Amino acid sequence: MSDRYQGFVSTSIGQLFVKNLGLPNPTELERWTDGAPLVDGVVVLGGTGRLAEVLPTTLDGLGIASTTSLADGGRAKALVLDATGIVDTAGLSALQEFFTPLMRRLDTCPRVVVIGTPPELTSGSERVAQRALEGFTRSLGKEIGRGGAVQLVYVAPAADGAISSTLAFLLSPKSAYVSGQVVRIGAHGSTSTDQVDDWTRPLAGKIALVTGASRGIGEEIARVLHRDGATVVGVDVPQAASELQTLMAELEGDHLVLDITAMDAPQRIAHHLREHHGGVDVVVHNAGITRDKKLANMAEDRWSSVIAVNLTAPELITRELLDAGVINTGGRVIGVASIAGIAGNVGQTNYATSKAGVIGLVESLRDELTDGITVNAVAPGFIITQMTAAVPFATREVGQRLNAMSQGGLPVDVAETIAWFASAGSGAVNGNVVRVCGQMMLGA
Ligand code: NAD
Repeated sequence: MSDRYQGFVSTSIGQLFVKNLGLPNPTELERWTDGAPLVDGVVVLGGTGRLAEVLPTTLDGLGIASTTSLADGGRAKALVLDATGIVDTAGLSALQEFFTPLMRRLDTCPRVVVIGTPPELTSGSERVAQRALEGFTRSLGKEIGRGGAVQLVYVAPAADGAISSTLAFLLSPKSAYVSGQVVRIGAHGSTSTDQVDDWTRPLAGKIALVTGASRGIGEEIARVLHRDGATVVGVDVPQAASELQTLMAELEGDHLVLDITAMDAPQRIAHHLREHHGGVDVVVHNAGITRDKKLANMAEDRWSSVIAVNLTAPELITRELLDAGVINTGGRVIGVASIAGIAGNVGQTNYATSKAGVIGLVESLRDELTDGITVNAVAPGFIITQMTAAVPFATREVGQRLNAMSQGGLPVDVAETIAWFASAGSGAVNGNVVRVCGQMMLGA
């Protein structure tokens, strides 16, 4: 599966076309490789908020070099502004003062993170100003270019010491295809500061269940969670059994062949995890299907099968694992939604209903979970897989280019986002739905 357009524009003839016809010019995104530093360059810190003292030590703990003043002629790989000190609209000038002089001094694929206080935890003029940060970060994400990514992280005061895993993700190439996102830390109950001994293996000793693990995004999730130290239990349908078995053998994991919509699937999964692994730490509901048709032509089975696989099965499996006490303390439940579930899509009323329901599952569970268990979801945009290879050429081209990075994402981009949610250090990351869409121009 490749992006032929991107291959073409990286040639000298392609560059001539791009220049003369004003065509999209996607930058080849940097992606993290095992053993590489999290940030290959300098992070410039700014702001005078609550986290000004915590930030340098947090970054230091991750092996990331930071400074508050960039040397003459130097370039920055990332910029972090602590905007928690902005308490009224006059204070918003700090955004322009900090960022404008640095925007022309960024390396390729730069990272920008603005840190604020969740507006709902503030009031009056501070609430107005903190909410305003969203418009700033979403716009900067659309204009930064050169493979850059911009995020807003709202940190609840009680979670100030729980930001390491999020910075490790958002400042590194692990977040290659995530931009224009608003993340909340500690805003939904959990403010846990789980410690991670080894940031290269934040899932050491953990058991991770991944549904639909035999191919596509699910295969990559299994690979990345294994890389991070987890023992992966892959689930897939009987038709995919041999691919699943081969992959799980390679990853020294375990496999369970079943259809997640079967009546007894939740109980079989719970039984298997309890008997063979003593419980589960990470549950990734990745299995999903599309059966696209406009509603006027929608047959009943197209509707019901999509809702059953994408929504009812994750809901029932989660419920059973929770009720049976199979999810260990500090567990992570992770859903796979879609930007179709946020913005809607022609021919996908069934799919978008199911994926918006996955967001509903996060919202319904986030304040209910106990024992340090969190729930979050990713909402992928256009990810290059067998599922999207089946999309007609013209629709596929539009889907791939209509985002701030002018390209489709890779399965690994979704997998890295899931690995951040799954990390033992992400105890305070709860109730988030993060799009992995290169900041799609359509929808929210
Ligand atoms: P894919 O079709 O390549 O893989 C899906 C996997 O789920 C397959 O291995 C399949 O056998 C398995 N599966 C399907 N029904 C199952 C069932 N009833 N029981 C057990 N396993 C089952 O799809 P993908 O592109 O890798 O997508 C993975 C997830 O990401 C899906 O939830 C999809 O909706 C979501 N997603 C994908 C994209 C994209 O652009 N590819 C965008 C948004 C969301």
